Amino acid sequence: MALKALDIYKILPKKNCKECGDPTCLTFAMKLASGKADVDLCPHLDDSAKSLLGATTRPPIRLIKIGVGERSFAVGEEFVLYRHDKTFYHPPGILFKVLDTQSDEEIASVTKRVRDEIFTRIGTDLRFNGIAIENSSGSAEKFAQAVATVEENADLPLVLISKNFEAFNEALVQVGSYQPLIHAATMENFREMCAIVKKHNCPLVIKAYGLEEFIVLAKSCSEEGVKKLVMDLCPQSLGDYIMLSTAVRQLAITRAVPDLGYPVYFDAANSQLQDAAIALGIIKYASIIITPPLPVASAKAALTLRQNIYTDPQKPIQMNPGLYRVGAPGKDAPVLMTVNFSLTFFTLEGYLESSRIPCFLLIVDTEGLSVLTSVAAGKLNETLVHDSIKKFDVENEVSHKTLIIPGYSAPLSGRIEEVTGWKVMVGPRDAAEIGKYLQEEWKKQ
Ligand code: SF4
Repeated sequence: MALKALDIYKILPKKNCKECGDPTCLTFAMKLASGKADVDLCPHLDDSAKSLLGATTRPPIRLIKIGVGERSFAVGEEFVLYRHDKTFYHPPGILFKVLDTQSDEEIASVTKRVRDEIFTRIGTDLRFNGIAIENSSGSAEKFAQAVATVEENADLPLVLISKNFEAFNEALVQVGSYQPLIHAATMENFREMCAIVKKHNCPLVIKAYGLEEFIVLAKSCSEEGVKKLVMDLCPQSLGDYIMLSTAVRQLAITRAVPDLGYPVYFDAANSQLQDAAIALGIIKYASIIITPPLPVASAKAALTLRQNIYTDPQKPIQMNPGLYRVGAPGKDAPVLMTVNFSLTFFTLEGYLESSRIPCFLLIVDTEGLSVLTSVAAGKLNETLVHDSIKKFDVENEVSHKTLIIPGYSAPLSGRIEEVTGWKVMVGPRDAAEIGKYLQEEWKKQ
């Protein structure tokens, strides 16, 4: 049973020494109670207190950070099996794989693509996360050369994949301080692999066949002092992946088997149905997804799906309220008001751009609700419109006082006119009609 903050506080050393990063033991206890801190952060707890607290307070899936610097990312620390139960917090890192048998030019080109490529969707920049370098040549020297080529071209999170200890040692001399993810430790080699990753404080992938073997391997690595683990489930098919990843997630989330509480690694490059494999990884709990460089259509599909799955279903995606310009509007340009639900904004903006009529778009704060919902909930009202006109200084941007409001907010038109003193025109209900509306109604008034 989960402990409450005060019960946890009673077990803590009460030194208030701040070494855990919190100002007092009580604040640390509160974080532990909400699963936002790891018990290992307090160096003054003895082993029995650590295991008692760890079993009840640690996030059921550990948070693992890959890489350092601006592009580093964290995975794990998830709390639910289904997104609609709460939300998924840490989107999977998707990394493009290169082989050390490829030419320097090919490796550099993939690296630069991951470094520079950005897709913008509903106001958010979507990117791939890093590069996985596989030692397919078996040569330590070639591996080190491939790693050097990647490193020369970008500061990106890395996954290093090899079966050769020497290859890891040589590569980590160059990039060990970037804390790449190392693939992989098995039952046969975990002592040597743990020694390698401990030197550089890198996270480690463990690779096993069957959940029992994972439990033994995770415990063994933990006893060797390596706790930053990621699990490669080695699925034989996509169906096998769904079965394994769901079982692992279920056993970890319910804390039935805490030794399975690590993020999952999934190499979609091994599947013939690559796009389907990536989609499955995103939906079914993969935290690290490895893929060959994707064509643009597949790349956009993968990043869009990841964005959709890893948004909070309880919070509509919102725009910042404000006065936006479409084109280069002058003083006589129309002013259109709408809500800050992102999809409304981007849909309307797209239609306005294609109408080629420069205008102002006044976005008011309805906490991300759509027009219809915010009118019904009373969030969109005459006071909000009045305050937004004042706050964003709309009167000084244009030489007229005419406001176009969305068709679904027509019942508010009279009150908006009364409170703001602006003439209100009721626009169409469907954003697709806005170009025609501006041509016919705005221009003739
Ligand atoms: S490190 Fe431990 S003893 Fe020190 S403030 Fe944090 S919880 Fe308290």
